[in-house]
Amino acid sequence: MRYVVITGGVISGLGKGTLTSSLSYLLKCHGIKVTTLKIDPYLNYDAGTMNPYQHGEVFVLDDGSEVDLDLGNYERFLDTSLSGRNNITTGKIYKEVIERERRGEYLGSTVQIIPHITNEIKRRIREIGNNSGAQVALIEVGGTVGDIESMPFLEALRELNREKDTESMIFCHVTLVPEVGGNMEQKTKPTQHSVKALREIGIQPDVIFCRSRNKLSPDSVRRISLFTDVNEEGVVSVTDVPNVYLVPDLLRRQGIDRFIISKLGLGAGDFKDIWAEYKNNLVNPKKRVTIALVGKYVELQDAYISHKEAFSHITGKTGIAVDIKWINSDDLLSDISVLEDVHGIIVPGGFGYRGFEGKLRAARFSREREVPYLGICLGFQVAVVEFARNVLGLENASSTEFDPKTPHPVIDLLPEQMGVMDKGGTMRLGSKKVLIKEGSLARELYGKDEVYERHRHRYEVNPVYIDRFEKAGLKFSGTDEDRIRMEIAEMPSNPGMIAVQYHSEFLSRPLNPSVVHEYLVRSALKYREHLVEAAA
Ligand code: GLN
Repeated sequence: MRYVVITGGVISGLGKGTLTSSLSYLLKCHGIKVTTLKIDPYLNYDAGTMNPYQHGEVFVLDDGSEVDLDLGNYERFLDTSLSGRNNITTGKIYKEVIERERRGEYLGSTVQIIPHITNEIKRRIREIGNNSGAQVALIEVGGTVGDIESMPFLEALRELNREKDTESMIFCHVTLVPEVGGNMEQKTKPTQHSVKALREIGIQPDVIFCRSRNKLSPDSVRRISLFTDVNEEGVVSVTDVPNVYLVPDLLRRQGIDRFIISKLGLGAGDFKDIWAEYKNNLVNPKKRVTIALVGKYVELQDAYISHKEAFSHITGKTGIAVDIKWINSDDLLSDISVLEDVHGIIVPGGFGYRGFEGKLRAARFSREREVPYLGICLGFQVAVVEFARNVLGLENASSTEFDPKTPHPVIDLLPEQMGVMDKGGTMRLGSKKVLIKEGSLARELYGKDEVYERHRHRYEVNPVYIDRFEKAGLKFSGTDEDRIRMEIAEMPSNPGMIAVQYHSEFLSRPLNPSVVHEYLVRSALKYREHLVEAAA
């Protein structure tokens, strides 16, 4: 197996995930089979129980694993579907080792970080490498070099580098080169220190990715190379680009793809830029729409990263750029006028009561003013509750998640969730079949009668109310396999409205974008053109 390890230094948030994804994309374009895995050195078993303010969005895979958002980037860049095994956490490693110890499998020995924890780390990395059929596994190590948490992982990687079944392994380190003073001088000292910390652990980097405002000066490259023993060819400038899908081009222009491929001892095939056309539209969109994203974590856009990316995918396909207007749903309670200038509204998934009433306002605004609306998961439930309260006249209708005593529980706990106490990994999770009714808008959009989509929820439309909804004009056009659970809702009186219980954003890919996000954007453009006509 061949490995490319990506570590980070100086500060967090330098975009290691995007760099890892971009490298994997470049290798793929050279005809090399790759897989990616993320190491998260926290003690949580998985990302599922974490608040989005901690690490951003919780991403969901086909197999129902709740993982770090970087796996979403890997899937989008590689156009592949990964499994929970591609996300290793300290929690998973320790759980496994302690369970083995309880079974007596260590035959009386003292169980220690080295070799027991490190062996389990190596076993999992090898397993991914061998089972994926890939030639190269890219391994992104979360956190910053020097953190206590990441030590066992770096030690395991150092060891892996020396082992017989490792054909080649290269280390890439991502750092920051700040520019300070009146003359904006580039400072390489933080990079020098960070590489020093890495070398103390026994890891010598082969490539240094330097995040900096401007391209590295020849002098900065020389200094970094001199102090770190990294070949000048391996010192790469990573400046900001307007869109993550342009990062591979930035790297390729500096020849780092060929440098890495040759260091790995592989031959570079002909380069085929898979996204060539896709990027044309992305860089030169012909039209624009403004979409309000109404959520409660809007201060941290990473909490909704898959939606942001899905809109990029639509721009690439249609040439319609999307300006997202980030709206804190609670703000709508005092002032709804911020929705006046948008052409469409998306209410994404969420948990907990905070922000719920504001989201209902957004759904009502959409219905009454016929503004295109896309509801995802909680956004679907919001549309249902709004309709119950304001069209069916069911006073105080709600979801039992927010109001357990509501007189009209139009959204209620899934029956199999009764009595579930553990919070981790217990929702209705992962890829499930959705049946789509003939003659519906959804059927027209998907062009087929069944699709697989990823789920993450505990609540659903209460079947008792379905008839009343349908008679009043809220149609359920998609259900689960047993036709008991409602999966898609549409409203013929507001043709730009569609809402889904699943998370279509998780499967949106650059060349195969989410169907419902595309519908929102196209409807928003129509709405915008209609506004212009009306004004004329
Ligand atoms: N809180 C809702 C539920 O559990 C919606 C979940 C979501 O939006 N992901 O059903």
